[in-house]
Amino acid sequence: MTEPETSSVSNFIAAIIAEDIKANKNDGKVMTRFPPEPNGYLHIGHAKSICLNFGLAKDFNGLCNLRFDDTNPIKEEQEYIDSIIEDVRWLGFNWEDRLYYASDYFDKLYEFAVALIQKGKAYVDSLTGDEIREYRGTLTEPGRESPYRNRTVEENLVLFEQMKGGEFADGSHVLRARIDMASGNLNMRDPVMYRILHATHHRTGDTWCIYPMYDFAHGQSDAIEGITHSVCTLEFEDHRPLYDWFINTLDLSCKPRQIEFARLNLTYTMMSKRKLVQLVREGHVAGWDDPRLPTISGFRRRGYTPQSIRDFCNRIGVAKKDSMVDMALLEHCLREDLNKRAPRVMGVLRPLKVVIENYPEGQVEELEAINNPEDPEAGTRKVPFARELYIEQDDFMEDPPKKFFRLAPGREVRLRYGYFIKCTDVVRDAATGEAVELRCTYDPATRGGSATDGRRVKATLHWVSAEHAIQSEVRLYEHLFVKENPADTEEGHDFTANINPNSKEILEDCMLEPSLAEARQGSLYQFERLGYFCLDAKDSTTAKPVFNRAVTLRDTWAKLQKKSKK
Ligand code: ATP
Ligand code: MG
Repeated sequence: MTEPETSSVSNFIAAIIAEDIKANKNDGKVMTRFPPEPNGYLHIGHAKSICLNFGLAKDFNGLCNLRFDDTNPIKEEQEYIDSIIEDVRWLGFNWEDRLYYASDYFDKLYEFAVALIQKGKAYVDSLTGDEIREYRGTLTEPGRESPYRNRTVEENLVLFEQMKGGEFADGSHVLRARIDMASGNLNMRDPVMYRILHATHHRTGDTWCIYPMYDFAHGQSDAIEGITHSVCTLEFEDHRPLYDWFINTLDLSCKPRQIEFARLNLTYTMMSKRKLVQLVREGHVAGWDDPRLPTISGFRRRGYTPQSIRDFCNRIGVAKKDSMVDMALLEHCLREDLNKRAPRVMGVLRPLKVVIENYPEGQVEELEAINNPEDPEAGTRKVPFARELYIEQDDFMEDPPKKFFRLAPGREVRLRYGYFIKCTDVVRDAATGEAVELRCTYDPATRGGSATDGRRVKATLHWVSAEHAIQSEVRLYEHLFVKENPADTEEGHDFTANINPNSKEILEDCMLEPSLAEARQGSLYQFERLGYFCLDAKDSTTAKPVFNRAVTLRDTWAKLQKKSKK
């Protein structure tokens, strides 16, 4: 058995589990599960839960199941199931042959319900939905008992059977637990266990027209699978007494221990699936895998790595109190990962033509460039240098202010891996006066980046050879919302009012070095001086590659950390 001290997941939940093992609860076994409802794509909050559940199982020599909580046929779809499976696998977790569905347990759950009726602990109620709500009472007032609460066991058994048999219309009856209408906990005031719903389920088809409520299905599904520690988010804390009541009243041998933790909230985004569905349906984003969404598929498409997301989940830890995590931390985790692994290349996003007048026409030199200074084993590559190049428009200013050290008329700079060049003339657009081409000279004695006479330059620019460049589209992303908390709106507006109109910028005429012809779907690079970029997995073609900017190089998180230390 793993000693808790060596656990990589060290948090209050791990401490509870370690205690349970010490006390030899469940014979020292640990069994967890990740239980998504397939009513949307997974987001980064789910990643926290996935890392936690699979991480705890691994650290305590246990197992973690993947279980779909598919009890609501109206909102659930196969597309969501497929995406969830893909995402959990991509994050690096393995449930082996333990892929389960709550719908696998519909027969068993029905039997449990019948058992509760037989014990006099459940009854068929024929109040309307509105009446049930009205009878429930409030936080300060007790509820009232339904006039149907004292139906006999026999009557209830017959009615429940008829509900199952399709004899009643939706909403005409429900099955309720018979607990305590005066309980201080509203969840204990005879909660609904089953409802009639003439709807086709994505797995069980039309076999059922009654469906268990989440609160009845969840704990019993855990018990059926032998889950020892049922880890979930804080909003289920008030449901725990109900889950325990079901397990104890049914006298099930497996008694899962529920432990709640705070959900992940991230700045400048939101995670509720209801809201994500709205963003997708209303077309605010281009689908569930839009690189601006906090979905796992969005992050993947944008260029996030499973390592960076797992690292993030480890760093944020697990707490009992809600908090807001800075998006900058997630970006920082990605930079740390890619800094070690991503090959460096040169790409010009907003090209400005440079003609080197004293460089021989038709000559091409293959300059040697380092693939990754952080990883000597990544080796070197050749980059072609020729008379006509592109540099970045904002690396040139005609009339530079004091602190601008890059190229300007009469000024000399270094081209990365190449030569010093000096700007001798500017060609302007006749109509706008805008610089459209720079005439330059180069110093052949500076090949490799330094001058024999010891003279210095203050800037090194990235560039690409015009003739050899790969033209490509690059998509730049900013936060999807302008506010740290998108829910913070003026009255009468919803969160979509805070959508950032500049969250996506498309650059159509970017020029990239020829080695990028080898880029494959999902390949990640550092474009020198610009950030990390990923070949788009959907829209990219050989004729026109498309790159997404995953993250810039500037690290606001590291800066924040430094500041707070000072
Ligand atoms: P949402 O509120 O975003 O719609 P949900 O809780 O309804 O999410 P489920 O599919 O039921 O989504 O979630 C599966 C598991 O993931 C649950 O155990 C849930 O507690 C956990 N989870 C969901 N959102 C977060 C989050 N933001 N942080 C941590 N865990 C989360
Ligand atoms: Mg849920």
